[in-house]
Amino acid sequence: MAELLFKVIIIGDPTVGKTSFVQRYVNDSYRRDYKMTIGGQERFTSMTRVYYKDAHACIVMFDLSQRATFQSAVKWKKDLDTKCSLLDGSPVPCLLIANKCDLSHREVEQEEVEEVCREHEFVGWTETSVKEGLMIDECMRFLIEEMVNKHAEIDGLSESFTARRGDGIRLNPDSQKSTASGRCSC
Ligand code: GDP
Ligand code: MG
Repeated sequence: MAELLFKVIIIGDPTVGKTSFVQRYVNDSYRRDYKMTIGGQERFTSMTRVYYKDAHACIVMFDLSQRATFQSAVKWKKDLDTKCSLLDGSPVPCLLIANKCDLSHREVEQEEVEEVCREHEFVGWTETSVKEGLMIDECMRFLIEEMVNKHAEIDGLSESFTARRGDGIRLNPDSQKSTASGRCSC
């Protein structure tokens, strides 16, 4: 059976819950006491093109209890769109996630999120609680559907996205080069 391989990136201000989201989705685990990712480019609301390269979809996350992180969400989206697009020139499908909805303290209204979502052309938005495991799988299912639809739309890419069972890692440098350059306009 053919498989599709997609790269999804997750961006947003420090401490909004990005690492926790990945842990929750991949391991279905949540730890309140692990060592936080400190430093790095995320402090500057910007990442290098290398990080974005070949992304098929993106999550922009903010923390409902910290208004500043919501304001940054728009900057994150712009940073992505200026540095990366799909091969057909369209923006990378981007889901806006309002995390930490389990907290009673809120600094952002739903109407505001809806407006930013519309104005800045996110493919959708939702509240999540990584802590409680709320809406995590649904977010990923939604993005997977977006990516599969897009994949079906863009002709000529099917080869570079399709890995047949047993293909494994390609060690031939020439074939690697052509695959990498054929994927994304970053
Ligand atoms: P990152 O810097 O964006 O990777 O954020 P982390 O995943 O390191 O999370 C920062 C802090 O927020 C940690 O203490 C997490 O336990 C906490 N956190 C993450 N998600 C949630 C959530 O949904 N609800 C609450 N209350 N805390 C969360
Ligand atoms: Mg982190």
